Amino acid sequence: MHDRYTRREILRLGFAGAAGLALTKLAPAQQRPRSDGRVKNIIFMVSDGMSAGVPSLADEFGKLVRGKGAFWHQLLQSPEATLGFFDMAALNSIVTDSASASSAWGSGSRIFNGQINVLPDGTRLTPIAQIVRQAGKKVGLVTTTRITHATPAGFAAIQPKRDDEDDIAPQYLNVVDVLMGGGLRHYAPNRRRDGKDLIKTYQDAGYTYWNTRAQATSSARPEKVLGLFYDSHMPYTVDHLNSDELRRTVPTLAEMTRKALEILGNAPNGFLLQVEGGRVDHAAHANDAAAIMWDQLAFDDAVEAVYEFASKRDDTLVIITSDHGNSNPGLNGMGGEYEASNKAMAMLQHAKCSFEELPNKLRNANSADDVRNILKEQLGIEINGEESTALAGAVKGNLPPIWNRQHRSLQGLLGQILSNYNGYGWVGTSHTADYTWITALGTGREEFHGLIRNTDAFYKMLKLFGLSHKNPSMTPEEARKYISRAPRIRTEDWA
Ligand SMILES: [Zn+2]
Repeated sequence: MHDRYTRREILRLGFAGAAGLALTKLAPAQQRPRSDGRVKNIIFMVSDGMSAGVPSLADEFGKLVRGKGAFWHQLLQSPEATLGFFDMAALNSIVTDSASASSAWGSGSRIFNGQINVLPDGTRLTPIAQIVRQAGKKVGLVTTTRITHATPAGFAAIQPKRDDEDDIAPQYLNVVDVLMGGGLRHYAPNRRRDGKDLIKTYQDAGYTYWNTRAQATSSARPEKVLGLFYDSHMPYTVDHLNSDELRRTVPTLAEMTRKALEILGNAPNGFLLQVEGGRVDHAAHANDAAAIMWDQLAFDDAVEAVYEFASKRDDTLVIITSDHGNSNPGLNGMGGEYEASNKAMAMLQHAKCSFEELPNKLRNANSADDVRNILKEQLGIEINGEESTALAGAVKGNLPPIWNRQHRSLQGLLGQILSNYNGYGWVGTSHTADYTWITALGTGREEFHGLIRNTDAFYKMLKLFGLSHKNPSMTPEEARKYISRAPRIRTEDWA
């Protein structure tokens, strides 16, 4: 049926508005392209490790737990959105990690996984933050991971090993104006290996240091901010929601994004802002369906905050995307005629904690019955005796035979067992080679239609800003002789 109508007609006819979506709310987005084709601001949003199946499930999950579907889902139906895909391959692998992914967007060159903006022979690439700041624009990085983590770093840092986050931490000084996320451990003197006080270094350079939610949500708009709201990654949304303490002290991604836009929106020459929902990826590694859904909704709230800012303007490009698939959660057809699928998925709403917290609780279990009771209490799912016996053994380090080696861990086993109830199947516990979704809004959005090579994002963004810079690059053939120099990082640590 849809073949017979344009998307605009579908919207007019209301086929898309099943839940009475606020489509009128989207109407102001009729952004007229600026005559010179240039943009003043770019907001680049990344739901890290968001597999292609996540958005549709998050929309349904949102209806279930919040009485409204995903805002991104509405955008996808809007004629004002351009849809595309990124080909995110790395230089040494069709499966990319966040470091080479963000570097490809951030410097226009494919590099080896595990590195930030360096070619295999050690050539340093100039990241986009340095280029746009030189041109008088402001730069912001907002994330739920450590601010020194791969995705933010790929826009602003140069580091041969992504894990050397102590060395990434000082690189944002006077390159990035607004920094908000986790990662206090790489700035505080008592947490850094070298004992340096980088908080003071940033303060001396004019940055306002924030570490509470109250500060991030106050009316203050300092020109430069170092906001570090957690020691490591910020908590999963499902844990945040279930802790009064965390809700009180730790801001949400949307709150940080709003604040960043309040500050950067005043920049006379515009800005580049990267917003990362970083823990969708971590939840996918852990095969934790509920944590993915909740963090995707938190990312969705940030999308709405960005839309509120951008839809009023004709000088801003918004890109919403992901850097790679991860474990590829998919809802299986459950029961006769698949009628049990929705009910299975609905079980996720009972989760009270993430799989970051759950193993700690399971470690207190002394028997299979204990395991079963803890899962019932924490996830609202009642597994059977055989499954709880296997899990009780796994908690003590005795995994049952699992032929898919990616699943040979407590989390992998949990994911397999829980899929019998919540329907979420997983292809593994690592990144995947999927093309990733792109939704582009605003001036220049047509540049992101169709299948786009990751490296083109860098050159397209510069062009739209009216800037130019060419970074060196290497072909896979040229890179082959350097393969032994690629950082050795255990696959499960590649976030
Ligand atoms: Zn990952």
